[in-house]
Amino acid sequence: MRNKNCIEITFSNKGKMETKKVDLIRGGQFIVRETPCENIFTPEDFSEEQKMMRDSVIEFVDREIWPFKRRFEKKDYAFTEEVLRKAGEFGLLGVAVPEAYGGLGMGFVATMLVCDYISGATGSIATAFGAHTGIGIMPIVLYGTEEQKLKYVPELASGEKFGAYCLTEPEAGSDANSGKTKAVLSEDGTHYKISGQKMWISNAGFAKTFIVFARIEDDKYITGFIVENDPDNGISLGEEENKLGIHSSSTRQVFFNETIVPVENMLSERGNGFKIAMNALNIGRIKLAAASLEAQRRSITVCINYANERIQFKTPIAQFGAIKSKFAEMATNTYVDESACYRAGKNIEDRMSLRIEAGNTHQVAELKSVEEYAIECSILKVAVSEDAQDCFDEGIQIFGGMGFSADTPMEAAWRDGRISLIYEGTNEINRMLTVGMLMKKAMKGHVDLLGPAKAVVDELTGIPSFDTPDFSEVLSEEKAMVAKLKKVFLMVGGAAAQKFGADLEEQQQVLLATSNILIEIYLAESAILRTEKNIKRFDVDSQKEQIAMSQLYLYNAVDIIILKAKEAIVSFAEGDEQRMMLMGLKRFTKYQNNPNVIALRNLIAKKVTSENKYPF
Ligand SMILES: Cc1cc2nc3c(=O)[nH]c(=O)nc-3n(C[C@H](O)[C@H](O)[C@H](O)COP(=O)(O)OP(=O)(O)OC[C@H]3O[C@@H](n4cnc5c(N)ncnc54)[C@H](O)[C@@H]3O)c2cc1C
Repeated sequence: MRNKNCIEITFSNKGKMETKKVDLIRGGQFIVRETPCENIFTPEDFSEEQKMMRDSVIEFVDREIWPFKRRFEKKDYAFTEEVLRKAGEFGLLGVAVPEAYGGLGMGFVATMLVCDYISGATGSIATAFGAHTGIGIMPIVLYGTEEQKLKYVPELASGEKFGAYCLTEPEAGSDANSGKTKAVLSEDGTHYKISGQKMWISNAGFAKTFIVFARIEDDKYITGFIVENDPDNGISLGEEENKLGIHSSSTRQVFFNETIVPVENMLSERGNGFKIAMNALNIGRIKLAAASLEAQRRSITVCINYANERIQFKTPIAQFGAIKSKFAEMATNTYVDESACYRAGKNIEDRMSLRIEAGNTHQVAELKSVEEYAIECSILKVAVSEDAQDCFDEGIQIFGGMGFSADTPMEAAWRDGRISLIYEGTNEINRMLTVGMLMKKAMKGHVDLLGPAKAVVDELTGIPSFDTPDFSEVLSEEKAMVAKLKKVFLMVGGAAAQKFGADLEEQQQVLLATSNILIEIYLAESAILRTEKNIKRFDVDSQKEQIAMSQLYLYNAVDIIILKAKEAIVSFAEGDEQRMMLMGLKRFTKYQNNPNVIALRNLIAKKVTSENKYPF
């Protein structure tokens, strides 16, 4: 019988193409499994079709968006709409939509590529694009009936009409299921009357189709509806919000006053709205991560162009160690983020293919596959949004006083980037979700945490090995370190779960600390595996800087992990247990050969400086 979890992978090994069958990793399993490098997808694996898609999006952005950056700072909402419409004409709004509903039906990785590259020039377009193509359209694609999909999706996919997603209310933000908006069924059972107030609705100013969440009677969970925007049907808008950034993204309140919505416009079933909202957010999260990549690449390029030209003390500032260190860290984070995003994106795509082969509809396959990797989606949302914000912050610093000026690009990037830490679930909520979801998966038997966690405890109480491992092979010490860091997670997470049981949910600071460990491991491992795969595909020499970036990221990750693990251990463990765990932490985070961090940074910065752009 065919193994329904098995995929075929093709990879290059010293110039020879090889094919093998491997088990597709489950969501969250990375923390207990060793992943061979050929099992992960990397940006160097993009197909010709994917590269063509990427290049045409870059061309579109360079022609239609980048030259007009200043306009986006002037709250020119009509211009955002105009650019989105052009993106629609270009086919970019329907990449994730199946062909049957007017889209291009491209694979998940290709849809991430489009999000990535279209979002790099301004947060206004990134948000408008994400709100429309992600949370605006996808709930209908994923949960709509055939009639709903045929009626609404083609006009949204083409950009003839735009969509918005109305979940948040003044008193229901992170606690999204607590909304007060009501849907009351008419006596004749033909329609609902929706009344309530929605807040912070992206694209509200020009959207014609709203996904609205409302409560029917005293239901435990909200219900989703497709609502056509018609001012004569009790729908009105608040003023545009005065925002810190994304100035040309329309964000308004939407008021519903006995808005009549036919019963056939209910999305999925009564009470299924919270599930729809959460699943739409899972997709939104990984795409938001992708949407924070190109902005980092472009920022690095803009900054190095400036730093190579700006002379102080008769020297281009790019030559100063203080500035080199910034470029090295910015480039490293970007490389690592990109590695992790496309690794997870391809897992989702492969899972979808398996499900479709097994007879699932496209709809079910996409839903279930994204749900499977919801942990990775949250990890990516948090990590990439924060790395991007750090990149823009350092970008301002590289520009010095000019960085503080609205006449240079970093000021807007810094303001625009900030929202990514807040929407699609705040980073606090997403951090806590990563560990919470992993624990749930363990309880369901989808990820075996218990066995590996017990093995770590046995190792800690046993006699340590005094062998000196052979780390002569490139990245071998780094791979061994990742394996040890996983033990740190299992040690801390396992002990916390044992101590608090079901109350772990209430221990937010412990959850946040363990989630940081989880996040750093996923990111560091993704970069190391990408680089290792490319060493085998190309050669070591061509990957000098990539090796340095993998090592630098891991070094920083180890420091974060030491800090966070210690914080948790000293807070919830006592006496012998605390001493044993602190010793374990020391053992599991010890390098045999410490990397020369400054030399790594200088090597990476040299490449960025000499190419005068983000070169990886
Ligand atoms: C520009 C912009 C565009 C947006 N677009 C949309 C859109 O198109 N559609 C839509 O529906 N919504 C949208 N939102 C809303 C957005 O999703 C919410 O702002 C977000 O979910 C946070 O909710 P809140 O603002 O009510 O903050 P709150 O939920 O009040 O959170 C405030 C702080 O408390 C923390 N917090 C809250 N609950 C907990 C908890 N249980 N444990 C620990 N910490 C907690 C949060 O992490 C945060 O730091 C948008 C918001 C903005 C600013």
